[in-house]
Amino acid sequence: MSKSLIVISAPSGAGKTTITKRILEQHPSDLIFSISATTRAKRPGERDGVDYYFLSRKEFEDLIKHNGLIEYEEIFGNYYGTPVEEIDRARDLGKRLLFDIDVKGGLSIRKKFPEESQLIFIAPPTMEILRERLTSRKTEPPEVIQRRLDRASMEMQMAEQYDHRVINDDLDQAIGEVEKLIFEGSTK
Ligand code: ADP
Ligand code: 5GP
Repeated sequence: MSKSLIVISAPSGAGKTTITKRILEQHPSDLIFSISATTRAKRPGERDGVDYYFLSRKEFEDLIKHNGLIEYEEIFGNYYGTPVEEIDRARDLGKRLLFDIDVKGGLSIRKKFPEESQLIFIAPPTMEILRERLTSRKTEPPEVIQRRLDRASMEMQMAEQYDHRVINDDLDQAIGEVEKLIFEGSTK
């Protein structure tokens, strides 16, 4: 049975944005992206209401207060959370919802929707390659990169509770494996 809530998580820099974007482009009639709310600053090229809903801390805290989020976490000093409306939006469109959220958020989704969720973890080939990818992306200063690497080992451990694990070494192969998991339930 294919699941309606597909969670893709990975340590920052492992390639999950690249992979989810490609999969969404290839399957527009089946999948939509769950647009999270965040208080972090917009990166070059990111669009409000497309990549994230970029909110102030006050706006985000109001959402928390009014139960507007299915789950949220504070990560790297910023809030990130899934607005309740995203699930309704996917249901109304008759599409499956793809989440790019952290491991704790993924486990919260599964707790709330155990029958409907599929949790996929993207791992980097090595921690050294993870550092190289974060550095070459050039979107964060060195101290922020170090914080993201420090968090990665905790995420790799928690990911043992995920349904599937894909190593993102060769990008096209990793995308193929994630597609197979989403559409066929296994990589075989
Ligand atoms: P995340 O969303 O997990 O933080 P990104 O998708 O932004 O990560 O990827 C981090 C960097 O690594 C980007 O510059 C991206 O182009 C690059 N990247 C992603 N997958 C691969 C891969 N398989 N091989 C080499 N570089 C990759
Ligand atoms: P980034 O700043 O690189 O876009 O994201 C940082 C981390 O926050 C990533 O692990 C990303 O998956 C996670 N994230 C993004 N949106 C959400 C969300 O709505 N909820 C949770 N729990 N994590 C999120």
